[in-house]
Amino acid sequence: VTWAVGVDIGGTNVRVAQVSGAGVVGCVLAEPVDPGRAGGRPLGQLTDMIGALIEKLAPEPPVGVGIGATGPVDPGRGLISNQHTLPAAFRGPVAGELSEAFGLPVRLENDADAAALGESWTGAATGAEAAACVTVGTGIGCGVVRHGTIFRGAQGSHPEFGHHVVDPAGPACYCGGHGCVESLAAAPAIARAAIEAGAVAAGATAADVFAVAAQDPVCRAIVERARSALASAAINLVALHAPEVIVLTGNGMGQPGTLADGIRRRLAGYLFTPPGGVRVCLSRLGGMAGCIGAARLALQPEVWS
Ligand SMILES: [Zn+2]
Repeated sequence: VTWAVGVDIGGTNVRVAQVSGAGVVGCVLAEPVDPGRAGGRPLGQLTDMIGALIEKLAPEPPVGVGIGATGPVDPGRGLISNQHTLPAAFRGPVAGELSEAFGLPVRLENDADAAALGESWTGAATGAEAAACVTVGTGIGCGVVRHGTIFRGAQGSHPEFGHHVVDPAGPACYCGGHGCVESLAAAPAIARAAIEAGAVAAGATAADVFAVAAQDPVCRAIVERARSALASAAINLVALHAPEVIVLTGNGMGQPGTLADGIRRRLAGYLFTPPGGVRVCLSRLGGMAGCIGAARLALQPEVWS
């Protein structure tokens, strides 16, 4: 049976999965990101986890390895240089070194793009000509897949959807801008706004804010501002890419159905949707979209662009 290794490197967890040629997930290994594991050896945790999966499924070797990693990554050079969310043991020329270690082709991709490749293969955007997959969590990301390939910027760069401005008078963002959708609607932004307003205790999370929003007017306003920012962002996404489907995913959406409804309402009043309209739906692959999409890069090299 043809299979590939699909790896998802997030800020907190690493997942390594067996993905078949049909996009079906088999064996999965998951661990917290641990820079001290494997004696702190560079790429030690990744090498060990991938090696363990290959050994488990021996003698049938995978056709390759695909990795989706929290950005910024350089897919063309197979390089992770993220100093903000990943420890040093995960940085460097990951694709080249793992390829040498296992004698397999290795592709590296931004995690939002990997999730979009997954959803457009076997998930909620299957068969779509143009699809956008928006992830709302610690950050806000978006992968756009058009005509079967990832939409990229110059030199393979990933356009940072989370840092486009939806409110120029909004909060300052670490990117240098003000009122980026991430600075209004990502989980840490929601928690920070509620803590600063004194509506929740220090240390509270976005989940705490969502939980009391029905009773607390300050929290409700913060949640509504976040939803409105995401609805504006979705309109902008449609204005720029005219996708036939927007897939929503991530653990920072509060009530995902309410968020999706708000976006649908806003889109209903917008003129420039593609013929047939824009479907707004929730992820079908959930947390496995990244592994599935990453593995797709090894199983269907033609999706690489
Ligand atoms: Zn920003």
